[in-house]
Amino acid sequence: MKADLHNHSYYSDGVLSPKELVIIANDVGCDLFSLTDHDSTLGLPEAQLESDKLGLRLINGVEISAFWNNSAIHIIGLGIDINSDILQNGLSFNQELRKVRAEKIALDLLRSGIRDPLEKAQKISGGHMLTRTHFAQMLIKEGYCKDMKSVFRRYLSGKKPGGVRVEWKNFDQVIKWIHYAGGKALIAHPFRYRMTISKIKQLLLDFKEASGDGFEVVNANSSEDEISLGNQLLEDYDFLASSGSDFHGWPNQRVQIGNLADLPNSSRAIWNYL
Ligand code: AMP
Ligand code: MN
Ligand code: MN
Ligand code: MN
Repeated sequence: MKADLHNHSYYSDGVLSPKELVIIANDVGCDLFSLTDHDSTLGLPEAQLESDKLGLRLINGVEISAFWNNSAIHIIGLGIDINSDILQNGLSFNQELRKVRAEKIALDLLRSGIRDPLEKAQKISGGHMLTRTHFAQMLIKEGYCKDMKSVFRRYLSGKKPGGVRVEWKNFDQVIKWIHYAGGKALIAHPFRYRMTISKIKQLLLDFKEASGDGFEVVNANSSEDEISLGNQLLEDYDFLASSGSDFHGWPNQRVQIGNLADLPNSSRAIWNYL
């Protein structure tokens, strides 16, 4: 089974259209593909249309920002009904938070001497929902930083210019939105939150207690050690496993759609339960 269940289109911070993503997924031989834009399902109808045309199995997905212990985490919803009012109300709430945050980021960048930050970021987003990575791309384009990594070190987080705190909903609420929409809720990239292993274990425990379904064991940047630790934690907490590249289509990135290590234990793969 070749599956890639974590991808972004230009409806959030990816570069390509849903149609282009589906074509690539099909070309590289994926059996299963999911579009998981940040806090938006707007790209899914187009992805479905193209998937039907090519005979590729599409899983409706979304990547929702949430809080756990006052830190931001990302929760992937898979197999969701996009017509669920409860889910869409939740996503609208997050979209509004993003809008307000983008304005604050822009004001902060303006104060640190960057001209027309909102307009320039909007141009990059093509008028779609603004994310921090649009501001990041703008800062690279304008020559303030050389790549994504250095932008997020110097801007857009903590007390740096453009660092704005957002009050996302708590993770248990977000799990409920996904479950009301008939989907499965999984923690995205658990090893990317700059948490110690014991903190990650606490997160998994709390996520389990809130009826979460699993976590992403494999993504494009997973090390062998992370995959084997992830596999152990799956067993410990009786979770399901997902696998996704987190492809955005940005230049100078090695991430490719469908280019993922195998899940060590396929019996816990989320696609057996969707
Ligand atoms: P947002 O959801 O608008 O807060 O933006 C978060 C997104 O920024 C993540 O999904 C990543 O795509 C990206 N991001 C955050 N930190 C970094 C980083 N250090 N390097 C590259 N991308 C990052
Ligand atoms: Mn992103
Ligand atoms: Mn994420
Ligand atoms: Mn993502």
